[in-house]
Amino acid sequence: MGLTGLEIFKQLPKTNCKDCGHPTCLAFAMALASGKESLDKCPHVSAAAKEALDSASAPPIALVKIGAGENAVELGNETVLFRHDKRFEHPTAIAISVCDTMSADELTAKVAQINKLVFDRVGQVHKVNLVAVGNCSGDADKFAAAVKLVAENTQFPLVLMSDNPVAVEKALELVGDQKPLVCGATAANYEAMTNLAKKFDVPMVVKGANLDELADLVEKVVALGHKQLILDSGARDVAKVLFDQTQMRRQALKRFRAFGYPTIAFAQNEDPVQAVVDAGVYIAKYAAVVVIDSADPADVLPLITLRLNIYTDPQKPIAVESKIYEIGNVTPESPVFITTNFSLTYFCVAGDVEASRVPGYIIPVDTDGISVMTGWAAGKFTPEKITETINNLGLADKVSHRKLIIPGGVAVLSGKLQELSGWEVLVGPRESAGIPTFLKQRWNA
Ligand code: SF4
Repeated sequence: MGLTGLEIFKQLPKTNCKDCGHPTCLAFAMALASGKESLDKCPHVSAAAKEALDSASAPPIALVKIGAGENAVELGNETVLFRHDKRFEHPTAIAISVCDTMSADELTAKVAQINKLVFDRVGQVHKVNLVAVGNCSGDADKFAAAVKLVAENTQFPLVLMSDNPVAVEKALELVGDQKPLVCGATAANYEAMTNLAKKFDVPMVVKGANLDELADLVEKVVALGHKQLILDSGARDVAKVLFDQTQMRRQALKRFRAFGYPTIAFAQNEDPVQAVVDAGVYIAKYAAVVVIDSADPADVLPLITLRLNIYTDPQKPIAVESKIYEIGNVTPESPVFITTNFSLTYFCVAGDVEASRVPGYIIPVDTDGISVMTGWAAGKFTPEKITETINNLGLADKVSHRKLIIPGGVAVLSGKLQELSGWEVLVGPRESAGIPTFLKQRWNA
């Protein structure tokens, strides 16, 4: 268990010097106990106190990295049970499984399909993260050959799914430098698996038959000197997995150290639709890695969209850069749409300008990523800000007309904007879906 605020306070200098940004040492101790601060913010803490407080200041869930290079995946460091309490730090890594019983052609084809699972959502690139190679054959040489073939055909880090230390060792000799996730250690093999994970310095899944056995096993593995761990409670039924995932997160946040690691879940239901639903449940609650069989974009895209929704920082709306965007083959006569840089707003407007088949410019004004009406209400989408933006971006050099189209919801800005900018202001539709009709009826540059 972690230390309480008062226990931490006893270890602090108690000078109330405020160098940590808190008015008193007690306030700092309370923030540290709740995981909202880090100990290094106090420059005056003694070495002995630092050692005593390390467990309180460490994140309740350890950071674990799978893979090397630019496709490496970081997991863990989570500090909350609910996203709105702060944010979730690292999105669930989606792993697609392949099997060493597949022929070389089948393996290559599925890996090629996995490599293509890259999607553009609200201006960001989202993709799956891992390829999980299963030792379905039980044969160590077949497993090593499949791992080699997969590694040669993908940039994604691998998960080596075998409980046979001989098979895992053969695979690690081939791809150990790529830092795959070994999956994994059980009560029957943990000593051999832990030695391999230590030797190759790779992360490892620890699997218990239930939460009690898992906690015991984690303590044994940690005692052997390996701490790059990912936890598997052994459950495969969706309700039990959900229960276990929630318990592990709750206990980890209460500083039960055996559960202070990221978790893995397997969505391998025989019904492919149910498998996607199960994977969605695990992404929502609280799997750091979810393994699915399907590489069908129709199955993967909903999961990636769900992940994006859950793992977006609620304190930071997704925003696009404030610049002049050109939609279609624009000319100096093309219309200019003013909107805000909230990503969803921008992409709605961009889609509807594109649908109108009239090339146009879009200028998303920087409102710190909030929408049109919210930006207006918050004083961030104002005539002054719009004028400053079009002047700074040099809009007058891009177009031969002097007309701006503003969202219908903020028609109230038109008079002041016209006066400040010197541009004629046309009030557009309230919803961007009305842009094609608006352009047909009103645009005449
Ligand atoms: Fe106390 Fe350290 Fe903060 Fe100073 S910097 S108020 S000594 S906790």
